[in-house]
Amino acid sequence: MTQFVLSKARVAPKATKSLARLELIGALMTARLMDYVTTALERFKFDSITLWTDSTVTLDWITKPSSSWKIFVANRVQEIHDLVGSSVWRHVPGKDNPADLVSRGMTVEEIKSKNEYWHGPSWLQCDKSTWPSLKFDREPMDEEVVKEAVKLSTNVAASIIDPCVITTRIGNYQRMVRVVAWIMRWRYPANRTPESSLSIVELENAELTLIRQIQHRHFENETEALSHGHEIDRGSKLLPLDPKWDNEKRVIIVGGRLQYANIPEEAKHQIILPSKEAFTGKLIQHYHERAHHSAVETTFSNLRQKYWIIGGRKTVSSAIHQCLPCKHRSTKAMEQFMGPLPPERVRIEPAFTHIGVDFAGPLMIKNESKLEKRIAMKCKTGGRMQGINEHDVTRRAHASHRVTATTRRRRG
Ligand SMILES: [Zn+2]
Repeated sequence: MTQFVLSKARVAPKATKSLARLELIGALMTARLMDYVTTALERFKFDSITLWTDSTVTLDWITKPSSSWKIFVANRVQEIHDLVGSSVWRHVPGKDNPADLVSRGMTVEEIKSKNEYWHGPSWLQCDKSTWPSLKFDREPMDEEVVKEAVKLSTNVAASIIDPCVITTRIGNYQRMVRVVAWIMRWRYPANRTPESSLSIVELENAELTLIRQIQHRHFENETEALSHGHEIDRGSKLLPLDPKWDNEKRVIIVGGRLQYANIPEEAKHQIILPSKEAFTGKLIQHYHERAHHSAVETTFSNLRQKYWIIGGRKTVSSAIHQCLPCKHRSTKAMEQFMGPLPPERVRIEPAFTHIGVDFAGPLMIKNESKLEKRIAMKCKTGGRMQGINEHDVTRRAHASHRVTATTRRRRG
């Protein structure tokens, strides 16, 4: 015997949603309704519970783990699993579905006479083996199902791309991203394209893959909570940033207060990055070099257009302090340490006790209306200067004697 207990119908929301998604919402309503009924009838013991849907797409979604799907489907599938489990769902052919009577609309008089509404399809009263069956794991999956699937290639690639290994092996940020992009292209045949160079999309995906891994390692609880639409823990260090989950990029972003500003979307909600991470250091270095080894403030402000690094300015400053070209430029040149002055220059003694002769020049001297090169000779202590021809060895010797004689005369 079968008996009607409770039914519920809802008008489709105004916001445009695909038919498959509406069917999924319907399945979720069924699960909630079943939970309500079993709670209300708790004194009855149920051997088994079977739920029915006429949507094969919804069945495909429900029979696989929620992590296989994108966020909208994943959240609803997860709730259905939590409420009723995944093993109780079966397919009802559209023509036998009594729920369609509600969605098509009917007068009270008409529905009173509809036996299938009050007791279900006729086969429901027969043995389970006669119920219609559907093989869920058939291939290929419905286009609608595939559309919602999380790109597995990215996920599997992500699991083999460990940022720790990549960052320790590759020093340059751009090269690091390119290497990951190549791995992601060639690891999976579906990603392979005949183009010889990497596209912007591939590079962005590679960067996001690295960021996802890093966020998952540093903010595991937050990622888990936000990706499932839950609040983060009150003790989380990300709480002041009002973090949000970016459904498209699947990363944690800053909530912020700039949603009405007319600036690029990524500048309003920057991607959150941890400070103590080699990847972050390389990213800072990349921005620093891209701005021609700019100062801390410029690098920091350029980074803020897209990323929110925890402990931002301090992290940027310490990363820039390790930049080798900047270190070379800012280091002071070595200066020779001056030795002590010789005793004859520092002791108090009569004038001309010590004299020295020094040559300097050449200086250009005008002699009878023509310029000549002359070497200046200077008596170190006397300050006397004589100009002599640079080739004239004899006159140079005489000049030296003259200085000595003059000095003796003065001292004597
Ligand atoms: Zn630098």
